[in-house]
Amino acid sequence: MSTSLSERLSQELGSLRESGLLIHPRVLERANRARTRVDGREVINLASNNYLGFADHPALKARAEQYLREWGVGAGAVRTIAGTLKIHEDFERQIADFKHTGSALVLHSGFTTNQGVLGGLLREGDLVVSDELNHASIIDGLRLTKATKKVFKHADPEDLRRLLSEHDTDGLKLVVTDGVFSMDGDVAPLDRLVAVAREFGAVTYVDDAHGSGVMGAQGRGTVHHFGFEYADDVIQVGTLSKAWGGVGGYAAGHQNLRELLINRARPYLFSTAQPPAVVGALSAALDEVQRDPSLMERLWANTRYFKAELEGLGFDHMNSETPITPVVFGEASAAFEASRRLFDLGIFAVGLGFPTVPRNLARIRNIVTAEHTREDLDQALSAYAQVGRALGVIR
Ligand SMILES: *Cc1c(COP(=O)(O)O)cnc(C)c1O
Repeated sequence: MSTSLSERLSQELGSLRESGLLIHPRVLERANRARTRVDGREVINLASNNYLGFADHPALKARAEQYLREWGVGAGAVRTIAGTLKIHEDFERQIADFKHTGSALVLHSGFTTNQGVLGGLLREGDLVVSDELNHASIIDGLRLTKATKKVFKHADPEDLRRLLSEHDTDGLKLVVTDGVFSMDGDVAPLDRLVAVAREFGAVTYVDDAHGSGVMGAQGRGTVHHFGFEYADDVIQVGTLSKAWGGVGGYAAGHQNLRELLINRARPYLFSTAQPPAVVGALSAALDEVQRDPSLMERLWANTRYFKAELEGLGFDHMNSETPITPVVFGEASAAFEASRRLFDLGIFAVGLGFPTVPRNLARIRNIVTAEHTREDLDQALSAYAQVGRALGVIR
């Protein structure tokens, strides 16, 4: 006899519940800002990816309203049929100029960008070598290709060299890495990875979801930070959903990259274009980060302050180099308990355990933003001190 839907659902939910992996998202009752309201409580928000405070920024909202009025609610079709509005094309030129690349294409999210680009570019006979800690959307994107796949040790150029020397091909070779890794907040050693890739004629593909709007001059990203922005053998992809405050993804690089993706990237071909208000908000975001240098300055000043104070309290933040600031609690149960206690003290920060992170490195992941005030951070630090002492993580 076949399995009924209700059996399947209760079995699956039961096993998630037993292994402690069942998720119940907390609900924000106001806009995503540094101070907001979550599940009935006023909180300081250390859980978002809203690095520059763009999710509810007046300049972005104004341009979103303008584009909404002038261009309507929806694009009306997929881009290749009748959905390419002039504002889509203008925004793509704006991204290519910002990133200093020959071309750029915008897709619906960072997630679908990895599916579209990896699925559209790679063929049987190609070789992909991917960092072991790469994002789930890269892993899913690679499932769409018939290329040979190998995995190198996290941020390890020597292991990359070993794999590239063991597996030669006449096809395209692609080295794939996140620019900034979302769980530890470390930066890929792009200088060394690109050098090794070049020894073997390989192209480097950088998913800069957590690096764009954070790294490099005016937030131009990790590739820019390492000086590879004009390189034709580096492809940058990323999201417009984190620092840039809206939703979407982009691929930027070689001048012919965009044209190929227009013809091959399946999310581009088969999913309706971004709505005008989103395009307006995003184009204002790129203008705003270049107009107002205090955004990047505050993001990094807050990052340095928060890390130094946590260190002073005796916490382990895993030598994170970016605004992503993990605080290690050891076992998953301890991290989840700490997150609950912090929430009771008005601090919203999410606990992460195995299998998202290694078993003994369960943590709370904090993301500091430009929008946090010194007072916000001090209040969070004093809550951390209290919870860390109560749980015996610091003295
Ligand atoms: C968040 C993230 C994505 C997904 O981006 P969305 O726009 O939210 O779909 C892709 N890659 C990496 C590395 C990410 O951190």
